[in-house]
Amino acid sequence: MSSISTAGILLRRIEYGDHDLILTLLTQDYGKISMIAKFARKSRKRFPGTLELFSEITLVGVSPRKGGMPVLQEAALKQPFAGIRGNLLKTAYASYWSELVLTWLEEQKAQKNIYRLLRYCLGALDAGQPPAVTSIVFQLYFLQFSGLSPNLRQCGRCRGALEKLPGEKFGFDLEKGGLVCKGCLTGKTPEWQLSRGTVKQLLWIQAGNLKNIRRLRFTEPAIKESQMFLEAFIPYHLGREPKSLKFLNHIRQLGS
Ligand SMILES: [Zn+2]
Repeated sequence: MSSISTAGILLRRIEYGDHDLILTLLTQDYGKISMIAKFARKSRKRFPGTLELFSEITLVGVSPRKGGMPVLQEAALKQPFAGIRGNLLKTAYASYWSELVLTWLEEQKAQKNIYRLLRYCLGALDAGQPPAVTSIVFQLYFLQFSGLSPNLRQCGRCRGALEKLPGEKFGFDLEKGGLVCKGCLTGKTPEWQLSRGTVKQLLWIQAGNLKNIRRLRFTEPAIKESQMFLEAFIPYHLGREPKSLKFLNHIRQLGS
């Protein structure tokens, strides 16, 4: 019987039978992992207030000798991030990031940078930093850590460097993952474009690290452009639109 002890962020909880919960967590040391929490539904004393979505816990789990899902033995709250669950918009953003982690990451393969990123962004959301900007940061780094960074330094077709490209607006080739300059755009104007200023801000995030993110100042049009771009780029590479992204769009429309 092997036991694990680590920190983890709760991404999904499903009721199982009359008493139990099946949890999926992103853990610091073992990556994405599913566990069963026995009697978590029946007895509130078993895991009091610790198994809420998006909270960070420290946990001890044991894998049964016969194989099968690890069983959660102990859980203690590390960061409740309670400000997220009481707010629909914040919940929608956190659900979107969780779905990306759940669908993209392999089971039981540690990805410490993605763990740190998710914890950082949930903390920012909880602390009241602008959700839309935090989501741009999450998506850009998530793509970077997954080896899928969009190439914003040059035109993907003529290979011209950004500084030398004509015009102030650029298209983007989702398939090839690169910018498209005015000279290389064929056919009708794409439904969304990136202005030079937005591209520069996205490059600044790509080149930096999380510590500098607090200094980030986005204008409203740059937020809109980045949002449209990233929320088209990610579903394209995922092969479908995440369910939580539809929900997020719905909530944003209600708010505007
Ligand atoms: Zn070009």
